[in-house]
Amino acid sequence: MNRREPLIFELSGEGKRAFFLPPLDVPEKREILEFLPCRENIPGFPEVSEPEIVRHFTRLAQTNFCVDTTFYPLGSCTMKYSPKINEKIAGLSHFLTIHPLAQEELVQGSLELIKLLEDYLCRITGMAYFTLWPAAGAHGELTGMMMIRAALTRRGNPRKIVLIPDSAHGTNPSSAHLCGYHVQEIKSNEEGTVDVEDLEKMMTDEVAALMLTNPNTLGIFEKDICRLAEIVHRRGGFVYMDGANMNALLGKFRPGDHGVDVIHLNLHKTFSTPHGGGGPGAGPVGVTEELEPFLPIPVIKREGERLVVENNRPLSIGRVRTFFGNFLVLVKALAYILSLGDEGLKQVAEIAVLNSNYLRKSLEGIFHLKYSSPTLHECVFSDKWQREKGVQNIDIAKRLIDFGLHPPTMSFPLIVQGALMIEPTETESKVELDAFIEAMKQIAYEAEKNPEILKTAPHRAYVRRLDEVAAARNPVLRWKG
Ligand SMILES: *Cc1c(COP(=O)(O)O)cnc(C)c1O
Repeated sequence: MNRREPLIFELSGEGKRAFFLPPLDVPEKREILEFLPCRENIPGFPEVSEPEIVRHFTRLAQTNFCVDTTFYPLGSCTMKYSPKINEKIAGLSHFLTIHPLAQEELVQGSLELIKLLEDYLCRITGMAYFTLWPAAGAHGELTGMMMIRAALTRRGNPRKIVLIPDSAHGTNPSSAHLCGYHVQEIKSNEEGTVDVEDLEKMMTDEVAALMLTNPNTLGIFEKDICRLAEIVHRRGGFVYMDGANMNALLGKFRPGDHGVDVIHLNLHKTFSTPHGGGGPGAGPVGVTEELEPFLPIPVIKREGERLVVENNRPLSIGRVRTFFGNFLVLVKALAYILSLGDEGLKQVAEIAVLNSNYLRKSLEGIFHLKYSSPTLHECVFSDKWQREKGVQNIDIAKRLIDFGLHPPTMSFPLIVQGALMIEPTETESKVELDAFIEAMKQIAYEAEKNPEILKTAPHRAYVRRLDEVAAARNPVLRWKG
């Protein structure tokens, strides 16, 4: 794109229309307008022709990066390609038109689908029960922590503290805090994992839970998870595992077999709903037998041949979402699981880990790696060596845009200064990975020879370097025509 796209208001011209209706030849019924979401006489409302409006939004859409056009290694976010067939299946008319208040007898098929997905997620994670209603990962965390709180309260003391490593995802401390807990941070050791002895020292009778992101945000597997769980359980606490990055573990590691009491998954990362773009997601939560009474309502139960929706559950934490959650996201997840099968799911994890390690090994020695422990599905480099030439992670990220590539996650996790967190995901071919590696090598070379080109990047994008602070602090939200 080589010209600035005007605002839709700038395209406006009085009387321009997408279509014109013929004059009315029946009496006008104004009442109908009250039922239509249609407002008249909005001051300054743009008036444009059909081709203008179509071209305007198509051009804007083309200025965006998206996973359907580009490699998108945004660490922690799992911006992988989701097969279109699963969208098609979720778009079948009987799924689209089903009413959330339909009687149980009329929706046995959809309840079966929900139950089947619960069963598969139990099988994948080793948990005893699942609730599918939370709408996102962070919402799952809150739901899980509420169940832990309810269980501890029933035992007589909800306790006060939740232990969270400094390598956890940022939503973990927020969720614990929202649930009324005080968060204590556990420092990572040199390997980038939680130290068993540190946990031993911090674990008291006032600790409600350990919240462990696994693999953690460094992409490193918390290999001592069994011993950590044992320490927490000995003092009556619960182990919460953030399983948003389950694509690294599918078919390889079942958290429920290793002392995890509660886990959430991100269907909009791992299970075929695209992450980002503002669409709906789902953060199902798995629990052990012990926490089953506290599951949010409704709970779907098998009674002989029939499925029933149970709402009367005295110990339940209540409803966390209207109706049956984001049902179509659940449809896509089940379609994805069934289409891959046991072997396919295992391959997802194998390729996610292989791709990430291929990138890590290829760029090791060119970009600084603070932690050298083996990683799973993502790896975290830093700008340490380039900073000596005055080049920072933001400059590297912006320059990648010139190569037609989406930048990695920047400056997160916080324990790596100048972080570049790269997650290739399992859906990328070696050709794509090699193109990214070549671009990163070129950028490292430019940092040595011509740092200016990085500091002024991007050069080939629709917009050049933006003042992100001003954009956040002084946003211009109103068109002054
Ligand atoms: C993405 C992610 C979350 C949060 O998920 P949302 O759906 O964005 O709320 C939590 N933990 C980890 C490790 C994640 O990667």
